Amino acid sequence: EPDRILTAARRPEDMDAALRPKSLDEFVGQRAARDNLRVFIDAARQRGDALDHVLFFGPPGLGKTTLAQIIAREMGVGFRATSGPVIAKSGDLAALLTNLEDGDVLFIDEIHRLAPAVEEVLYPAMEDRALDLMIGEGPSARSVRIDLPRFTLVGATTRQGLLTTPLRDRFGIPVRLQFYTVEELTRVVTRAASLLDLAIAEDGAAEIARRSRGTPRIAGRLLRRVRDFANVLGETTVHAKAADAALTRLEVDALGLDAMDRRYLAMIADIYRGGPVGVETLAAGLSEPRDTVEEVIEPYLIQIGLIARTARGRCLNAAGWKHLGLNPPAGAQE
Ligand code: ADP
Repeated sequence: EPDRILTAARRPEDMDAALRPKSLDEFVGQRAARDNLRVFIDAARQRGDALDHVLFFGPPGLGKTTLAQIIAREMGVGFRATSGPVIAKSGDLAALLTNLEDGDVLFIDEIHRLAPAVEEVLYPAMEDRALDLMIGEGPSARSVRIDLPRFTLVGATTRQGLLTTPLRDRFGIPVRLQFYTVEELTRVVTRAASLLDLAIAEDGAAEIARRSRGTPRIAGRLLRRVRDFANVLGETTVHAKAADAALTRLEVDALGLDAMDRRYLAMIADIYRGGPVGVETLAAGLSEPRDTVEEVIEPYLIQIGLIARTARGRCLNAAGWKHLGLNPPAGAQE
């Protein structure tokens, strides 16, 4: 989905690093996660120990990488980052692990995509801080155990259920990230605007926030596009009207939905009379991979109550019909 401005997936033009908060206090929202991390970090520091392994799960763009970096900074340790699909062989992971310094944070994004043989190297590493290496071949082969430095593994995945049970069980601190409220995203936008040296009014920030699908990465991207329009039009301060005009030009509607979302909703309404309809059928109709439908399009539509996932398939709620400008039929869920 290369041309979707509303995708939460990382895109080449995203300047994530420039906008990253550097401490837990600077990190907006995710109150429960922040409060818990604060306690665990303080406790580990007091004991002079490494933090227990942390698993972040939740949709892309909500701050998993950012929090992993913050953990390293607050613990005063080094930060190494990689991702599941990048680690091809178990030897690659062994090399990474043996090169860690005492206490380091090792961040593995998309950890559910580790190859099974690589994942098995992680078990003793996480549990016993040890690496089991096979030396030699055939009858003379034997296994030697190498001690690893203390380290904290921080894993990130979109859904907790994607992990194998043995891997999931080895994380002492599982943390679910939630979509952000409009009020929280307004703060994210205001903060990002000041980092980008852009003057923005409260109502301008709120307008961008409302249309960012609960996702800071999207808020940052929309903010930069709005800034482009403001620069070209010579606006010195971005107000709601200018933000609205720019976002409308980008085909981002009042709820933060784009043409793809509206096609998805219209398909359930027009062809399946509101559903239920199976996700495979919808994916085929939209010519999109099922994963994209389930992980990119649907989570936010569910979050704002336009559709429901039921055992028999997807259904359009009353709010979904209304968003399309249609009257909900009798029996549509409120
Ligand atoms: P993920 O790893 O979950 O995909 P990132 O940590 O890369 O998400 O965050 C994406 C972008 O959103 C980054 O630019 C980051 O600075 C910004 N961001 C995420 N969470 C917050 C937050 N709570 N406050 C401010 N900015 C945030």
